[in-house]
Amino acid sequence: MNPDDLPQAPLQPLNLPWLHQARIQVAILRLDLIDPLISGNKWFKLRHHLQHARQSGASGLISLGGNHSNHLHALAAAGKRFGFATAGLLRGHAQDTPTVRDLQAMGMELHWLGYGGYRERHAPGFWTLWQARYPGWHCIPEGGGGLAGAEGCALIVDQARAQLATLGWPDYHAWWLAAGTGTTLAGLVLAESGRHAVHGALAVPASHGVAQTVEALAGSSGYQLHEACRGGFARLDDDLQAFIADSERHSGVPFEALYTGKALLALREQVEAGLFAAGTRLIFVHTGGLQGRRGYL
Ligand SMILES: *Cc1c(COP(=O)(O)O)cnc(C)c1O
Repeated sequence: MNPDDLPQAPLQPLNLPWLHQARIQVAILRLDLIDPLISGNKWFKLRHHLQHARQSGASGLISLGGNHSNHLHALAAAGKRFGFATAGLLRGHAQDTPTVRDLQAMGMELHWLGYGGYRERHAPGFWTLWQARYPGWHCIPEGGGGLAGAEGCALIVDQARAQLATLGWPDYHAWWLAAGTGTTLAGLVLAESGRHAVHGALAVPASHGVAQTVEALAGSSGYQLHEACRGGFARLDDDLQAFIADSERHSGVPFEALYTGKALLALREQVEAGLFAAGTRLIFVHTGGLQGRRGYL
């Protein structure tokens, strides 16, 4: 297996009572099932970075994230799988989480930057130091963002389209997915170029600049952003937890609380508010992230 290969994510009907009641059909694209380790949207976001790294002969990959980061987890796994050394720059002070233990076990070299040091990540010259320390390594922006990340995510659209017939769907009306940086959403918008609307559920507060990121990557039309963060990223309240437990029981699909659970709850709010007409067919992207559940369960 090499970074050019893309495992196929299954597209499945998502059965939930509130969708049934509103006569909205939803198919869920299970990116969480593409690989046991390089899970969810992260494989797509990393794909072009891995290809660039291979073409430039880089011996290693370096990126940033928090101590439950799905991105660093996928990066460490991809490095191990495809023969790159990896280094992770982490927010805050050294902590022992299930994710951090996996990163170490997969051979990623960890550097804890503190909070102030992590805030410097956008400063000019930030990468110079790390490039001097790891000469020739490929540097990947936080969360695997940027155009390289978005272009990889454009492939998600083909994966769903190729399976519409298996559901008996002639077409679909729109996409629904969680947005963290907005890179994945931007990839879908680029691939659709206006053919189908893309709805992003914001897992982070508006101050994180998702709207600006998406606009810079994909322009200002073809998508809609919905508030879904419930007071902060990684904020976990009882209603959200109960909703996730309920949804899992009804659908048989596992969700986590940082992205996919919030995105599904925001969808229910919008369906109940009448955003979609009866008969609408939506594709919900399951962006993965299930490894992170160990950190808060
Ligand atoms: C990283 C992540 C996202 C956010 O993706 P962006 O491209 O940053 O918007 C969404 N869902 C899950 C499960 C993730 O791990």
